[in-house]
Amino acid sequence: MRYFLAIIGGGPAGYTAAEKASKAGKDVILFEQNALGGTCLNVGCIPTKSLLYGAKQYYNATHAQKYGVAAENVTFDFAAMQKRKTIVVRKLVAGIKQRLNNDHCTVVNGNATVLSTLPCGEGQGGVLVSCNGLLYEAENLMICTGSTNFVPPIPGIKDNPAVWDSTDALAATELPKSVIIVGGGVIGMEFATLYHELGVPVTVIEAMPSILPNLDPEVVQILLDKYRKAGINILTSTKVESIDGNTVKLSTSELLSTLSAERILVSVGRRANLQGLEALNGLELERGAIKVDGFCRTNLPNVYACGDVTGKIMLAHVASHQAEVAVSKMLNDQMPNDQMVNDKMVNDQMVNYLAIPSVVYTNPEIASVGLTENQAADMGFTTEIRKLPMTFSGRFMAENEGETGLCKLILDAEKQTVLGVHCIGNPCSEFIAAASFAVSKGYTVAEMQQVVFPHPTVSEILHEVLH
Ligand code: NAD
Repeated sequence: MRYFLAIIGGGPAGYTAAEKASKAGKDVILFEQNALGGTCLNVGCIPTKSLLYGAKQYYNATHAQKYGVAAENVTFDFAAMQKRKTIVVRKLVAGIKQRLNNDHCTVVNGNATVLSTLPCGEGQGGVLVSCNGLLYEAENLMICTGSTNFVPPIPGIKDNPAVWDSTDALAATELPKSVIIVGGGVIGMEFATLYHELGVPVTVIEAMPSILPNLDPEVVQILLDKYRKAGINILTSTKVESIDGNTVKLSTSELLSTLSAERILVSVGRRANLQGLEALNGLELERGAIKVDGFCRTNLPNVYACGDVTGKIMLAHVASHQAEVAVSKMLNDQMPNDQMVNDKMVNDQMVNYLAIPSVVYTNPEIASVGLTENQAADMGFTTEIRKLPMTFSGRFMAENEGETGLCKLILDAEKQTVLGVHCIGNPCSEFIAAASFAVSKGYTVAEMQQVVFPHPTVSEILHEVLH
């Protein structure tokens, strides 16, 4: 049988593509060597958020006095938190399996290897994939093989039982007694939050002058001040020279020192998974990831790539959006021209990487979309900044005792369009999508002012900040 689409990898990119193409009536085969759901569902977003929610419940219970509530002898059971996490993940994985089944998508559990691309000609182009000793032929290939934790070349890191990556940390049934986190990026700061809220002494070591270096510096500073005051030891502009057992040797510009902890969690980024693709002769790479255009097409005919493997922005919602765009393109390319033109107006748009929202699940949360002030300046915009502390929102005041927060808008000074929105304060993750509309559609301040926000919600800050 010749499939319309073969997909390698069943994470958010792969299963979204499979669902969309199957729903359009196409024959789709998806190869996944582990559980469906990929990193996000099994060892990423969902398990961390499940554990972070447990930690937040404990933290809130032990800090309830500021709301007039006294809770004594509050305890937590980390093994029970882990058990709940596993159940949440299992249910979601089963849901994906069910959905693919309902859509009549063939799912093969195994490690797939691309054998070759087939010669291009009228209706002839395609690929040959091998899995579990069988051969599969498809007209189109979508590579959604994701990424893996990067292991930096630090002496003493390899095969060191004291060293964890995020997958090890998520699997542990016991909390470490103390932890050093190498890398103050998104993974590092979310684990710092988890461990700190559960009472584990935490040190974060970040090589750059600031943690979360890609985010708005003013927003990050608020988190940094709060976390340092709360007792998290955050060392910036600091490098790990080597690791010996559970001791790390650090270097700053002036001095060398050592620090020890029971566990050393290394979270210094992820790298694209390119194994099994060696036969794709001439496949173009860019900074160690597969190079794709705005429709997620690679330089090879009929070969698409979506998700972390493209190295664009390693977020689950980018992966699923890329997959939707790529499948729309694939389907449109098959249609007669007149239909394609109509459909193009609705679906067939390129991925806009400048309007991708992102959230860091620290406490308080950070949520942002679009350009930072520096990025906007680099792109030649003259910017105007509007900002307000979150305390201008009544709901925020009612529910966030002792917090200040910030909502910051980056505007194109000339056109008065919204280029970026950067927030810190709970629960900004829940209203950043409203800002995404403004950024992705290029709304002006005047247009945003016409939108009515419900009262009392923290989202009103997006309205307040425009005045
Ligand atoms: P990251 O790129 O976000 O952060 C890595 C950090 O490590 C950077 O700040 C970097 O400067 C620092 N670093 C690099 N080498 C170092 C060294 N030798 N010593 C000290 N610091 C060093 O990567 P990550 O945190 O590993 O996350 C990987 C990917 O997963 C990211 O793309 C991230 O966006 C994604 N992710 C997203 C979420 C979310 O959306 N909430 C959660 C977790 C992970």
